[in-house]
Amino acid sequence: MSEIRLSASLYQRFQTCPKSAVFSIDHEAKAFSKPSLRAALGNVSHKLIEDSVRIPQDWKSDQIHDWFEVNWETFVEKQYAELVEKWAPNIVPKPRSWPGYFATRASAKTLVIKNSGLLPPKTSVPTNSSTTGDDSKGVSLPLVERFLSSSDLGIVGKPDFVFLENDKATIYDYKFGNNQLDLDKHKLQMYFYYILVESVVNMKVGRLAIVASSNRVWEIPSDLKQIKDLENDIPRVLEALNSGKVMALPSTQNCKFCPFKSICEPFRKANIEIYPHRPMAIVGEVLQTKPVGENFQELSIKPERGPDQEEIKVFGIPREYGVRVGDTVFISDNLEFRDERLIGFSWNTRLIIQG
Ligand code: SF4
Repeated sequence: MSEIRLSASLYQRFQTCPKSAVFSIDHEAKAFSKPSLRAALGNVSHKLIEDSVRIPQDWKSDQIHDWFEVNWETFVEKQYAELVEKWAPNIVPKPRSWPGYFATRASAKTLVIKNSGLLPPKTSVPTNSSTTGDDSKGVSLPLVERFLSSSDLGIVGKPDFVFLENDKATIYDYKFGNNQLDLDKHKLQMYFYYILVESVVNMKVGRLAIVASSNRVWEIPSDLKQIKDLENDIPRVLEALNSGKVMALPSTQNCKFCPFKSICEPFRKANIEIYPHRPMAIVGEVLQTKPVGENFQELSIKPERGPDQEEIKVFGIPREYGVRVGDTVFISDNLEFRDERLIGFSWNTRLIIQG
């Protein structure tokens, strides 16, 4: 097995459920991960910020405005195409109906158009965002979305913008949309970057800040004890991930958005219900399939568990799944319960035919 490098998101996943962290680095299990609408919007905004570095310095604001409009549409279309491919045959909503679409767009636009000191300067910033590889000590600031890897500590990451300020490194991370107030989670990510930058760039870190738009910046206090505790915990997590012998922590909160439910035995045994008689996943044998129009079908399923294993109907399933009578199906994520025995299938419901 290749050597595992720990990123902030892998560390956070490990803290939530170690088993889910192990799944996320397993080559075969990785195929279960699919992008969310929120992640797609985040990718668009980050790409725009990164590319805005290349805007010529003498451009007027209406030129930058036009550049933003064209590139926003292009990047959104790319993300949409990826979502469509990954979620097929489910029908992904059009971008303008994604939650937070307009708010995220407005935040990214103010940042790019105002081009304050919150963004990398449009000057000689190296635009190469490719992997630096190991032992990248000596890389010089500023860094824009540059992948950093510390072989000393076994950690990796891609801070959005690292620049020199008062002889120290300042780290900015851009957070758009609805999640910027989730500061505790971001704090851990910033502390992770703190450790990474000090190791790779070989320079003391001064300020840490989350930038949400041109007028919303949250300074993250550098709590040196917490940073040291995190650094000390990294070897333990790496060792556990390398051994693969880790606990699963099934719970409503942990499993809700976990993409590995269908292959996680502890999850299946836990039989989690979101509300009484409303399980987080439906597993059972298909008793009947009924076509609905040209594109959809409705399934009658005998669940493996539940009171009297009473039949459950799931409607709105794309026919392209090709579910047949006698198949065992695993259906999870975004189950739209109309009542305990009737469930609507939505664009981000997962269906796996297990036999
Ligand atoms: S389904 Fe739940 S228990 Fe299983 S890996 Fe995911 S979060 Fe952990």
